[in-house]
Amino acid sequence: MYQETIDLSHLPLEGLRLERRVNSNALKIREEDWESQGDLLFELFLQGNAGKTLVEGSFAAGITFNCHRCLERTSLDLRRSFHLTYVARDTAGSSKEEIELSANELEVAYLDGQFLSLQEMLREQIYLALPMKLLCKTDCRGLCIHCGADLNEVECACPTEQIDPRWITLKKIAQKEN
Ligand SMILES: [Zn+2]
Ligand SMILES: [Zn+2]
Repeated sequence: MYQETIDLSHLPLEGLRLERRVNSNALKIREEDWESQGDLLFELFLQGNAGKTLVEGSFAAGITFNCHRCLERTSLDLRRSFHLTYVARDTAGSSKEEIELSANELEVAYLDGQFLSLQEMLREQIYLALPMKLLCKTDCRGLCIHCGADLNEVECACPTEQIDPRWITLKKIAQKEN
C-alpha cells in the first residue's frame, strides 16, 4: 500500500518539490463501474506552513471501464493539473483575518493537524479528473435496444422508431383489420 504523509510544519522555506511513480498494486482503486490501471505518476510542489500550504501538482493515471453505452472494455489516461490551498482547520475557525485567501485560491481544503496524506490527495484528484460519462468514444452509438447489436460496428434491421409497448397490441389489431 502506498502511504506517504508530508509534515507541513517542516516544509523548507523555498518549498518542496517531489516526484513519484506509484506502482499499480500499491494504489488500486476499484469502483463499481471503473478501476485504476497502471502506475500513477505525479509531481508536486508544496510551499507554506502548517497554517496554510499551497500545492501545485499534476498527475497521470490510467483507468479501465466498460463503456456505458456499448459495454466495450475501454482504457483511458487521465491527466490533470491542480492548485490547492490547504488551511489548518483550527486556524480557519479561530482567526479568519490571519488567513486571507485570494481569488485564485478557490480550491481550498481544510486539514486537521499538520500532516498531509499524499495518497488521499491524489485519490481525490483522480475522481475529479473522471469524465462525466464513461464512454468508449464521445459519439458511441451503443447497443440496439431490440437485438443487442453493437451499432458502432453493424447496422441492424430493427425499426429505429421507439414503440411504447402498450401500443403494440393495438398495432397488431390494426394490422389484422387491414
Ligand atoms: Zn461504447
Ligand atoms: Zn437491432
